[in-house]
Amino acid sequence: MVNAAINAAGQRTEDLETVYNIVEIFHSVQGEGYRSGIPHVFVRFGKCNLRCEWCDTNFDEYEQQTVATILEQIAQYPCKNIIFTGGEPMLNDLWPLARPLKQRGYHLSVESNGTVAIPDGLLDWICISPKDQMYPQVSVKQRSGHELKCVYVGQPLTLYDELKHGFEHLFLQPCYDESESVEENGRSFALTEEVVKEHPEWRLSLQTHKWMGIL
Ligand code: SF4
Repeated sequence: MVNAAINAAGQRTEDLETVYNIVEIFHSVQGEGYRSGIPHVFVRFGKCNLRCEWCDTNFDEYEQQTVATILEQIAQYPCKNIIFTGGEPMLNDLWPLARPLKQRGYHLSVESNGTVAIPDGLLDWICISPKDQMYPQVSVKQRSGHELKCVYVGQPLTLYDELKHGFEHLFLQPCYDESESVEENGRSFALTEEVVKEHPEWRLSLQTHKWMGIL
């Protein structure tokens, strides 16, 4: 077996040269789910294997960036929490990016649609947001994690009867549509609120960043 080349800082040079499709990297506050309110650096990857009708990400427009470039951008921010999001980040082998970030002491989270299994030990926080209310034929491969977050569009919660046992926290999230009025989004919120009241093992998650008009 050939050993990976290591630079003076103790990093694998082939990791630093690995290229990813990146839509954007920005510093903001997590607006939804269990870690809501915590500042993070968001690394948004290009490409997704699904096409949800409510998707608000232009994951088809991205540029190729090396890990070294990504690390430089992340280092600009006074923040040790990273969220890999997309698109679908798990379409990539994230080890070459995760290794140097772990070396630097970052906490690594992922927001994934769950259609790709996540290797053990890669990430510190796994949030799976399945889309089987839209794509019942697409199986969820990652069936465990810290957080299961489902956009509620009227689907029966029995859809998650088996899946929910693999997760520590369960969230239902109203579908927020920027093209709709405040009243219409309010109706979606009220519907989800009613369902959560009837099924208290689920908690309500709001996309507070959208309601507040921030990234
Ligand atoms: S899985 Fe996520 S990123 Fe992919 S299309 Fe659906 S909402 Fe968009």
